[in-house]
Amino acid sequence: MKECPICKKGNLVEVNDIVSEVEGHFFIQKGKRCSSCGEEFIDEKEGQRMIEVARKLGIWGQPLKLHRKLSRSARATVLRIPTDIEKNMNLKGDEEVLISKLGKNKLLIEIAN
Ligand SMILES: [Zn+2]
Repeated sequence: MKECPICKKGNLVEVNDIVSEVEGHFFIQKGKRCSSCGEEFIDEKEGQRMIEVARKLGIWGQPLKLHRKLSRSARATVLRIPTDIEKNMNLKGDEEVLISKLGKNKLLIEIAN
């Protein structure tokens, strides 16, 4: 089993119930999930397959909407940016962001620089 690259504590376990949401459509995919922090890693092939299906349905585009869970760190709630979005936006991880609350259950995250 592989060690989780995020928390370095858990093992990556094969799962087939990773849920991604693209514009209101849900895709169930195979991949791996960390037994400790719960981070999900979608198999690259599966991710490509989902993108193809989404393209055919005409729902693939900007903004990318993916389902991710929030987690608690010692003092605050943490949202991990999924790797696909990170790559898509060329994020380095030291960007300043602006977070705005849009209504009851929506947050807008903008890259400030
Ligand atoms: Zn982990």
